[in-house]
Amino acid sequence: MKDICVIGAGHVGLVSGVCFAELGSKLICVDNDTQKIKGLKRGILPFYEPGLEELVHQNMKQGRLSFTTSIEEGTRASDIIFIAVGTPQKPDGEADLTFVERVSQETAKAIDKYKLIVEKSTVPVKTGSWIRRTMRLNNAYNIDFDVASNPEFLREGSAIEDFMKPDRIVIGVENKRAADIMTELYSPLNAPIMVTNIETAELIKHASNSFLALKISYINAIANICEKVGGDVTQVAEGMGYDKRIGREFLNAGIGYGGYCFPKDLSAFTKVAEEVGYDFELLKAAQKINDLQRQQIVRKVKSVLWNLKGKTIGILGLSFKPNTDDIREAPSIEIIRQLQEDGAQIKAYDPQAMNNAKKVLHNVEYYSNPYQIAEDSDALVIITEWGEFKKLDLLRVKQLLRQSVIIDGRNILAPAEMKVLGFSYTGVGR
Ligand code: NAD
Repeated sequence: MKDICVIGAGHVGLVSGVCFAELGSKLICVDNDTQKIKGLKRGILPFYEPGLEELVHQNMKQGRLSFTTSIEEGTRASDIIFIAVGTPQKPDGEADLTFVERVSQETAKAIDKYKLIVEKSTVPVKTGSWIRRTMRLNNAYNIDFDVASNPEFLREGSAIEDFMKPDRIVIGVENKRAADIMTELYSPLNAPIMVTNIETAELIKHASNSFLALKISYINAIANICEKVGGDVTQVAEGMGYDKRIGREFLNAGIGYGGYCFPKDLSAFTKVAEEVGYDFELLKAAQKINDLQRQQIVRKVKSVLWNLKGKTIGILGLSFKPNTDDIREAPSIEIIRQLQEDGAQIKAYDPQAMNNAKKVLHNVEYYSNPYQIAEDSDALVIITEWGEFKKLDLLRVKQLLRQSVIIDGRNILAPAEMKVLGFSYTGVGR
């Protein structure tokens, strides 16, 4: 069993690190955020992910999981070093790889014997060669190392399950030595392992995320047609989904995608294509449709409530998707800001994301349950499809609302029932 270091204790680094520890490896997790590491050493997690806290505590207790701010300490203690730092978007859409570069330099300076350096962050194709070059330039004693790519496909909210039961594991390598180490590492998971060159592995990740975003934008485009002609997009999606070549997943019309991955990965992939002389118009169209979906929700609120000045809008859901407290690129932020610009007062509730939202949104009143949000609001807007919003006592909601208006941005309520209850109900594409 190889000893492992994961650099970057974020949604990917912490989850994959803890899962490797759970599978029996000795794991050291590095982050340059001293507060985060201080907390982790005391068992306090920097973000919410179902089941993660228990796994962290168990593995720390069993001595398989430790934390440090020192890349040198992590590198020296390990055989395999995973780079799982952020790869944010630059203003022009390109991926910002400065964190990956910095970590590669520091790792190169710290290596004392053969190490396998694995890029786990989502990166544009050719980043692997840059990591190798950077490592060589900073590896003063010319110590042997390999570089590999091992993109991560986990989803926030079901990250542990996704890591432990992946659809596939993609390993991009330059030689058999690296392939053997990586294949052995993942063998306990019993998942299909695909070994490719590094460029192909990098492309698989960008191509997969972009395709999923396309699928979402496609059904949102269909939703817009449905609204014009009286179709029901949820039934269209069901009808399409029975076709095995299409599949039902990722065909839920709504406010569109958000989060730390799809928006930036789509932009980065569009940029990669541009750099090699290909105009990836398909991806640009998907982004445009996604932007439009957010604006549509504000338009729908206005088309029911007329003027927003002096009105109170209750927002249900702030995280970019359920079961996470992550609000990076969450549609809620842009929608709330637009509603505020039009003069609306905002009340909001989210089961997990309110603390993060408080850091970026201003003049929002937060409450601790959906019914407090409904009370004296002129409309409820559902932005995130948390399970608890699907089970609302709608009669109670109706009594509390000033006007019986619900804008359902995720199609979680049944239009027929809403009509019987006497709501003015607006979904997406039905
Ligand atoms: P994150 O922001 O949650 O975590 C990144 C961590 O890296 C942070 O804790 C940060 O402090 C740390 N870091 C940055 N620079 C550092 C340095 N020089 N030394 C040590 N630590 C450093 O990001 P994330 O969501 O975990 O994403 C990481 C990568 O994985 C990105 O490329 C992302 O696209 C990709 N990815 C994310 C998801 C997801 O669902 N979040 C899924 C698959 C892939």
